[in-house]
Amino acid sequence: MPILETRQVSKRFGGLTAVSDVDLSIEPGEIHCLIGPNGAGKSTLFKLIVGTYPPSGGEIRFRDGDITQAKPFARVQRGMSIKMQAPSVFKELRTRQNLHIALQQKFHRQALVDEEERLLALLDLTAHADKAAGLLSHGQQQWLEIGMALALGPELLLLDEPTAGMSPEETFKTGELIKGLNATGMTVLVVEHDMAFIRQIAQRVTVLHLGKVFARGAIDEIVNDPGVIEIYLGK
Ligand code: ADP
Ligand code: MG
Repeated sequence: MPILETRQVSKRFGGLTAVSDVDLSIEPGEIHCLIGPNGAGKSTLFKLIVGTYPPSGGEIRFRDGDITQAKPFARVQRGMSIKMQAPSVFKELRTRQNLHIALQQKFHRQALVDEEERLLALLDLTAHADKAAGLLSHGQQQWLEIGMALALGPELLLLDEPTAGMSPEETFKTGELIKGLNATGMTVLVVEHDMAFIRQIAQRVTVLHLGKVFARGAIDEIVNDPGVIEIYLGK
């Protein structure tokens, strides 16, 4: 049974249909990539899943419950954590204070301190723990934001373009981080358009084009699909 499912989900903005009758199915324990050229509707579908706004039609199910109308916070409480496309760390606070705030939702006292240190090490931010977050590199700020999502102990981690603006080295490191989390049993949905990164991490892929599902399948099938190659090169 899928952990997350969208059934015939649509979103219209006035006369524009950004997402059109999309069926998406995420299996527990997989790394699933949602890909497609710019303007395909990826971020809009992501926002429907996390509850930024309601769909114009269709149904969204998470852990066997209907969450179509659920508030974002209720979705987080059920076990999804989110990193939106634009980083939004508290720049004037220290790196560890950013994590501390997120960890306060779930942890207390010593457990919180232990988890803070564990996350700092996992994100390779221990040496920068007492720096103002605004002084971190762009890539480090993205990792910190992933850390804030992890602080909530999610079953499903949702990342919208986690490597946007990163160097190739930072991008590769982010891929290894995501694979490491997945190896501990976490299900991950990643919205992405960087093909090298997608090849590094993806198990199954759903391709969006002009708001519709264009293709879906295992990563090896998708990267060799002439139609997928064409919509990527044709943008
Ligand atoms: P992607 O993330 O795949 O690049 P988006 O989901 O951001 O694509 O956008 C899909 C389409 O919907 C685009 O044509 C975009 O301009 C439009 N769109 C996205 N958000 C809004 C909005 N809030 N209001 C109006 N149009 C929007
Ligand atoms: Mg986007």
